[in-house]
Amino acid sequence: MKKETEPSCSFCGRKKKETQILISGIEGHICENCVGQAQQIIDEELFQKNKKFQFSLPSSVKPKDIKTFLDQYVIGQDEAKRYISVAVYNHYKRLNQSKSDEVEIEKSNILLVGQTGTGKTLLARSIAKFLNVPFTIVDATVFTEAGYVGEDVESILSRLLQVCNYDVNAAQHGIIYIDEIDKIARKGDNPSITRDVSGEGVQQAMLKLLEGSEVLVPPQGGRKHPEQKMVKVDTSNILFICGGAFEGIDRLISTRLNQSKVGFKKGKAQEKIDEENFLQYVSPLDLRTFGLIPELIGRVPVLVHLNPLDKTALRNILTEPKNALLKQYKKIFKSDNIALKFDDAAIDFVIDKAMEFKLGARGLRSICEAIMNDAMFELPSTPGVKEFVVTRAFAEEKFEKANVSKLKAA
Ligand code: ADP
Repeated sequence: MKKETEPSCSFCGRKKKETQILISGIEGHICENCVGQAQQIIDEELFQKNKKFQFSLPSSVKPKDIKTFLDQYVIGQDEAKRYISVAVYNHYKRLNQSKSDEVEIEKSNILLVGQTGTGKTLLARSIAKFLNVPFTIVDATVFTEAGYVGEDVESILSRLLQVCNYDVNAAQHGIIYIDEIDKIARKGDNPSITRDVSGEGVQQAMLKLLEGSEVLVPPQGGRKHPEQKMVKVDTSNILFICGGAFEGIDRLISTRLNQSKVGFKKGKAQEKIDEENFLQYVSPLDLRTFGLIPELIGRVPVLVHLNPLDKTALRNILTEPKNALLKQYKKIFKSDNIALKFDDAAIDFVIDKAMEFKLGARGLRSICEAIMNDAMFELPSTPGVKEFVVTRAFAEEKFEKANVSKLKAA
């Protein structure tokens, strides 16, 4: 007589008694574990397959709508948001213009000038989120002139290719945020005295990317794989957003404004200069004095400044945006059934410390972490805690305990 064998999962081989559910098919069986894993694979595959980038704005979207979207994520910086909304809107008009048009809309790459932690990267990131195009952030300081130690500027495009799974067409419509563009300024006034490997040479190399040309890109980036096959990427439709703190440029602006005071707006009453915030007067001339070459300045025609964040802005950043830091802490505690509250005075303390460290909103996170870390460690395993209020005294105590010098370097 034929011996009955115990049914088992045809995928992982588990015996029926080792599974909770074993589903029978025509040819075999599948257990609950393998169904779960299969579903995961299906979800990931479908996500990759259906991840569609969009290369045109719906006709109903106007610059005001772009700004309204940015308002959800970025506090203040109204002027910057208006400029960026228009630049992005025009960028899409440009993408959709017909080749035969006599009037050609030129590229509107953007340069953001503002102190650290004021929202430059956040603006670029939020724009990419709105547009649903491939987006990457690169740091200008890692690039050197071809032939020197460091990365070639072409690898900026490798990163973009990587984020869109080497879909060249998608990459060609992407956005690249080049951070710390001020760090490749020419050092010293005389360009020819010494080779300036990481300054002017890199600026020169960047020109062709920014203006739009066909560039051969090593898909893996870097120079470590000399055998790799190059990919051709046309940068004409890539929007470049550059950002930098341009430390010290306020002094250059101030000098220029003082020099031009004589004869400035002759006949009219002298316009009062706001000495607290010189960045709002930044002009291409100042960038040139700072050490950017004129050709580069010409290729980032939309020059936008970001304002330093005052206490009100910092408070709003902590509490208002969709992803506000305090909302995040509340969510973390809520998942352990603990209602978290922050006293106003505790919030004031965080803001005062952030102002003291001059890190803009960048400091908020590390200050909050220093204050909240013990509570996040202890409370989930403390029985009976249903509510927790962060008072100023608590904030001060935890902050003192934390290693403040570490925060300053954050
Ligand atoms: P940077 O100007 O140095 O590029 P970031 O955009 O990286 O600054 O901001 C640093 C942190 O501070 C981010 O977590 C960001 O969310 C927050 N932040 C900075 N500025 C703002 C702002 N205006 N509105 C909301 N959050 C901000």
